Amino acid sequence: MLTHYGWSDALQHDFAPYAARGLAPARVTAQHRGLWRLMGEAGEMEGRLSGRFVHQAFEGGYPVTGDWVAVEPHGEGATIAAVLPRASAFTRQAAGTGQAAQVVAANVDVALLTASLNGDLNARRLERYLATAYASGAEPVILLTKADLCPDPAPLVAEVEAIACGVPVLAVSAANGEGLAALAGWLKPGRTAVLLGSSGVGKSTLVNALSGEARMATAAIREADAHGRHTTTHRELIALPSGALILDTPGMRELGLWQAEAGVEAVFADATAEVERLAEACRFRDCAHGREPGCAVQAALADGTLDAARWRSFQKLRKELAHAVRQEDPLARAAERKRWAAVHKAGRARTRAKREMDD
Ligand code: GDP
Ligand code: ZN
Repeated sequence: MLTHYGWSDALQHDFAPYAARGLAPARVTAQHRGLWRLMGEAGEMEGRLSGRFVHQAFEGGYPVTGDWVAVEPHGEGATIAAVLPRASAFTRQAAGTGQAAQVVAANVDVALLTASLNGDLNARRLERYLATAYASGAEPVILLTKADLCPDPAPLVAEVEAIACGVPVLAVSAANGEGLAALAGWLKPGRTAVLLGSSGVGKSTLVNALSGEARMATAAIREADAHGRHTTTHRELIALPSGALILDTPGMRELGLWQAEAGVEAVFADATAEVERLAEACRFRDCAHGREPGCAVQAALADGTLDAARWRSFQKLRKELAHAVRQEDPLARAAERKRWAAVHKAGRARTRAKREMDD
């Protein structure tokens, strides 16, 4: 059961200390006012936080949809004793309040960033979504939706590819199925995906197209709550027939809206590509482009090849992103380090591929 929800050998390995305490693994499929819907080895159950968990003021916050937790099962339900380290986390920064950002969803592998080919294409907005995806640790893929309404998507795809610096860009249509086969490559069994994008771009329609009848059957299930009342529980982690999972929570929807409104000055995607290209020539593979000897980025800044303002804005946004993840979710620290390693590695690979194409 758990493998369908993304359980892996690596997680099994990390779980050993919890298993030694007699705890069992489960994944959060929905959260609802002090109750967590969990998928465990034996099926679904309802979880509550252990008193100890609540009183220890756990610094990563309460479990969110997508989290793996260690539980003590009992009868019908389970007591949540711990949240496992997150491989990725989407956070929402409360704007201007100085409050800690909130973790909105965890352990998302693929962020599907959507924009409509029918008029919604906005480079800034896409950059912001890209930044959000990178900050979370999820792998971004750009989906240009409603391809059936666009007589010739190719030039628009190329335009977006140019700002996306190596992130895959797919034109898809829920109406005629175009691009869905290509998308399936990112929706492998056990992988968790989210759709980000403004209202009306076709996210729900796409989920329906991907899940067919499955969503109808599983999205809303009637069940008895602790007091025996029947309630409709919305499941937020939807298993697709392909074996992949779609995470769809109100928090992520709000995040999409918020991102769309935020506006962005950052030329983040572009700058990343440029820095990565330069970094190829740094003496040290893991150069931080500070005071390392033989740093090609510092050299480019010195001779003006790299625009100083651009470098500053890149650093600023990068710091913002790192800060958001690090400060608000200590569990994501390791993931954040890994993410940057991966971003740089991918950048190097892209640059190499590009050179080979140019030659
Ligand atoms: P969401 O707000 O992002 O979830 O968008 P919806 O899935 O609700 O779609 C918004 C509107 O776009 C609806 O009227 C859909 O029927 C329409 N739509 C969604 N996908 C497609 C598509 O691939 N082609 C066309 N022509 N229309 C679509
Ligand atoms: Zn360097």
